[in-house]
Amino acid sequence: MNSAYVKGLYKQFGEVKVLREVELQVGSGEFVALLGPSGCGKTTLLRLLAGFEQPTSGEVWINGQLAAHAALNKPPEERRVGMVFQSFALWPHMTIFQNVLFPLQHQREVPESYRKNPRSRVEEVLEMVGLGGMGQRYPSQLSGGQRQRVALARAIVFHPSLLLMDEPLSSLDVELRVQMRKEIQHLHRELGASIVYVTHDQSEALAMADRIVVMKDGRIEQDGTPDDIYFAPESPFVARFVGKANFLPGVWSDSRTFQLIMAGRSPRPLRVSRDFSAFKAEGVLPVRPEQIRLHPRDSQPSREAGFLEGQIKHVQFQGREWLYTIAVGAEELEVAAGPGERFAYEENVWVEFCI
Ligand code: ATP
Repeated sequence: MNSAYVKGLYKQFGEVKVLREVELQVGSGEFVALLGPSGCGKTTLLRLLAGFEQPTSGEVWINGQLAAHAALNKPPEERRVGMVFQSFALWPHMTIFQNVLFPLQHQREVPESYRKNPRSRVEEVLEMVGLGGMGQRYPSQLSGGQRQRVALARAIVFHPSLLLMDEPLSSLDVELRVQMRKEIQHLHRELGASIVYVTHDQSEALAMADRIVVMKDGRIEQDGTPDDIYFAPESPFVARFVGKANFLPGVWSDSRTFQLIMAGRSPRPLRVSRDFSAFKAEGVLPVRPEQIRLHPRDSQPSREAGFLEGQIKHVQFQGREWLYTIAVGAEELEVAAGPGERFAYEENVWVEFCI
C-alpha cells in the first residue's frame, strides 16, 4: 500500500496556479525528497499531503484512504501524518516534555499503548532523539540542534506512518546539518515510516532520499532514484539544477549515439547507456565532472583512442578531490579528479569521456 498517492492534482490560490498535473506515489517505508527552486510549489504539495490546504482538483490519498479532493479535506489530525517545519514551531510556554506529549493527546489515531501510558512514550522518544533527561527544559533553554530534535520527537511520538518534513535543517549551521542528516536517516530506518522531505538543497536530497522528485513551476520535472536524477537527467533543467554538468556540443544520430563536435575535429561518436532524448533539440550531451578523466599528455592515449587534447586553465583543491577547468578548443569543461590525478596549471592533458 502507498503511504501517499496524489492523482491529477491542481492547486490554485485565486488566479495563481501553483501546482499542475501532479502525480506522486510514496511507497510504504520510502524516503522521497521534493527538490526544486524557491517558489516551485514544494511546500504547497507538502501542505496538501498534511491537510493544511485543499486541492483545487485532483485527489490526495493517505495510507490507502481518500483524504482530499475539491469537496473533501480530512483534517491533519485524522491523517496519521507527522510534520516537521523549517521553523520547528515549538510552543515556547511549554516544556520539552509537554511539547512532545501534545500530539499524543490530540491526534485521532494513536496506538492504544501510547494513549494508556503517554508519559513513558514521551520519555522513550526523547531518548531516541538524544534528549533523555531534558524534558523539563523550555525551548529557549536549548540549542538549535536540540530544538530540531524536539520537533522530530513531536512529529514521531504517535508513530505516524508518514512523516512530512519541510526544510527541517535549513536553520542549522553546516556541521550540525550534516550530523542531523545522518540522524534523520537513522530514524527513518528505525521507524519504518515513509518520509516526504522538502528541500532546495540538492546535496541533501542526493545524500538522503531513496527517490527524488524534482519540481519546476508547479509541475514534476523528473521522478527517479538519486542515481537517475544525477546521471540520467531527463531535461536540461534537471541537469543544471542538480549538480554541475558540462554540455558537450554535437548532434544526436540516434537515441544512444552522440556525435561529439569539439575543438574543430570531425564528429566522433560517443555511445551512451541511458536515454538522453530530451537533449536532442539542444544538440548537447550532459556530462558530469566526475565522468571526465584526464591523462598526462605524454601517456599512451592517442588521437586514435578517441581522446581530446586539452589544457588545464584553473585548479581548485576541494579536500577529497581536485576541480579542474580544462580548455578544449574554444570550450571549457569542468572536471573532478581524485587525489591520484594531479595536474598543474597550463599542463597539457588528454581528455576522456567515461559515460
Ligand atoms: P520555497 O523553497 O521558497 O519555500 P516552495 O517551492 O516551497 O518555495 P511554495 O511555498 O509552495 O514554494 O509556493 C509556491 C507558490 O505559491 C509561490 O509563488 C507562492 O507565492 C504561492 N503561494 C503559496 N501559498 C500561497 C497562498 N496561501 N496564497 C497565495 N499564493 C501562495
